Amino acid sequence: MKQRILKIALDTPLDQLFDYVWLDDGASSPPRPGQLAMVPFGKREAVGLIIAIEDTSDVPPDKLKPVLSLRAQLEPLRPDWIALCSFAADYYQRPLGEVVIPGIPKNLRAETTVSLDRALKRLAGKEHAHDPAPANMPPLNAAQREAAEAIAAAEGFAPILLYGVTGSGKTEVYLQAAARILAKPENHDAQVLILTPEINLTPQLEANVRARFPGVDVVTLHSGLAEGERLQHWIAAHLGRARIILGTRLAVLASLPALKLIIIDEEHDPSYKQQEGLRYSARDLAVWRARQLDIPLVLGSATPSLETWHHARTGRYRELTLRERAVPDAVLPAIRLVDMERDKADGGLTASLRAAIKKRLDQGEQSLLFLNRRGYAPVLSCESCGWISNCVRCTAFMVLHKSEHRLRCHHCSMEQRIPRACPTCGNVDLQPLGRGTQRIEENLQHLFPEARLLRIDADSTRLKGSAQAAFDAVHRGEVDILIGTQMVAKGHDFRNLTLVGVLNPDTALFSHDYRASERLFAQLMQVGGRAGRAARKEDGNAAEVLIQTRYPQHPLYAALMAHDYDRFAAGLLEERQQAGLPPYLYQALLRAEARELDAALAFLQEAAGMLQPPGITINDPIPMALTRVANVERAQLLVESPSRPALQAYLREWMLQLRAMKSRVKWSLEVDPMDI
Ligand code: ADP
Ligand code: ZN
Ligand code: ZN
Repeated sequence: MKQRILKIALDTPLDQLFDYVWLDDGASSPPRPGQLAMVPFGKREAVGLIIAIEDTSDVPPDKLKPVLSLRAQLEPLRPDWIALCSFAADYYQRPLGEVVIPGIPKNLRAETTVSLDRALKRLAGKEHAHDPAPANMPPLNAAQREAAEAIAAAEGFAPILLYGVTGSGKTEVYLQAAARILAKPENHDAQVLILTPEINLTPQLEANVRARFPGVDVVTLHSGLAEGERLQHWIAAHLGRARIILGTRLAVLASLPALKLIIIDEEHDPSYKQQEGLRYSARDLAVWRARQLDIPLVLGSATPSLETWHHARTGRYRELTLRERAVPDAVLPAIRLVDMERDKADGGLTASLRAAIKKRLDQGEQSLLFLNRRGYAPVLSCESCGWISNCVRCTAFMVLHKSEHRLRCHHCSMEQRIPRACPTCGNVDLQPLGRGTQRIEENLQHLFPEARLLRIDADSTRLKGSAQAAFDAVHRGEVDILIGTQMVAKGHDFRNLTLVGVLNPDTALFSHDYRASERLFAQLMQVGGRAGRAARKEDGNAAEVLIQTRYPQHPLYAALMAHDYDRFAAGLLEERQQAGLPPYLYQALLRAEARELDAALAFLQEAAGMLQPPGITINDPIPMALTRVANVERAQLLVESPSRPALQAYLREWMLQLRAMKSRVKWSLEVDPMDI
């Protein structure tokens, strides 16, 4: 019997492939790279992915173990998918197995294959529809048409920034560009990947896409899918049957054999960054994937990330612009600042904002109040002794959730009943400090008892389907005043909404995080962009955005009022260049966690001293801003370089040494960190 050596990736922290033997008995079909295999690993059985097949192994023959079984039912994962995962593993300094195995649906990895067979059979039996003819496509305006045609005509690797103001009809451009690409005769089996930042935006987009492409299989991929659904959708994409794949960031790692176009809506959005495990940027991986496959990539935004904007300005990305709103006669809302030094807020609302809400109520129009803080109040306090509701496990406050009679830590999710009296001095008159969405809602109930209010935040939408139900109610006009966090700020096309009130944006102006102002601008532009999306009814009654601030002179607000992202972005980029910050500098962050802060810092100090290559700046280890979470102390070490290859080479070497250290401190590395 001839034996082959299978090089297999397993989901373990060991950064290597594992060798297993496969004996050719002449009867069963031979293994292929990209296939899944069950293998013995330690005391258990594990599923692995065959990366390569060779004749020899460096492992002594008596140590080599045989493969237990092959997963032959599934079409093997293709080399270009494995190459994408290998790139992600190398770039983000993770073992390949930790990228490829979690990237495959759980049911495919499970030990029994019975259920898998049944799934697969059902899919194989299904009729395979492909009629790319779109339906119900509204006529595009000139700018949209130009953009859609340019995208469809792009050849080879073509990164394109679609820079369009809120409501300029970017979605329509994506769909019609996709239609043109799917209709090309050479693309009879083509696939299009559309990424969206918010899981709550997928139903709206999905409905849109299905209506436009009745003859094409459309699937979604996001973390809200049940395991069975995820399996079906993943396989439909993997077999090439699904032609349009809509998803959140994780969809960038889907297996797509015939991918011909990638679209990233709201490309600047921070949620494209995975914040745990493999901390990848879906946007950056999408750019890599488009280059690898030699296909166009559309990055859509009204406020592009500075990285993308910089590439567009230096000519590396092509820029297509939509300057006006798409709905005829709809114009951008007027943005006004409310000076909170003059117009003092009562219950979080200034007189100007209260009057504006009243006016919209009288006119039968909807208002949206934006406050990026859920709960009733961020902290409960005792005025007589100074006690405040600190979390005992975190360097954070316990947030007051009044209706549930609870204090809740948003970092470690610890909960307790609201104390009847101060735990230190016994004072029974404990006071909430500050305001969250629940408190604003309560205040609005008093002010406008006849208005129909709806709060949308992570608390109000915990149950599956409840977010969708809430958004549907807004679209149906069953809500007069919507109160929400960033969940409501993105993407939604509310047609009867004419007022946006921003309650408390100032804290981000003075953040230690250098990205805070870029984010604040994008967020305000986005939430403001929810107003006035339908045609204006009469003059003098335009939609408006009211921003309550103590710093009306701040240049960020001046640029915002002028809807002038160009000037703002140019200014920020200049500052970044002078200060030596991204995108002019590349960064990686080593994080350490331990019971004692000193242990975490000592580990980082040792890590910092390991290598001193030229061109790499190794900063001092420091405690993280949120130092303690769930009784774990956290510290970080930032390394920087003006050269990405130099940083990558350093990280590779550094990782080898760090892994060899076998420290008891838990650590992780993040490449291109967003929050530092
Ligand atoms: P964006 O994503 O740029 O903020 P959307 O794609 O949500 O904007 O479009 C805003 C609104 O304009 C939507 O209601 C959409 O149906 C409408 N729209 C888009 N293109 C056109 C068009 N050519 N004619 C009329 N309405 C359009
Ligand atoms: Zn007290
Ligand atoms: Zn806590």
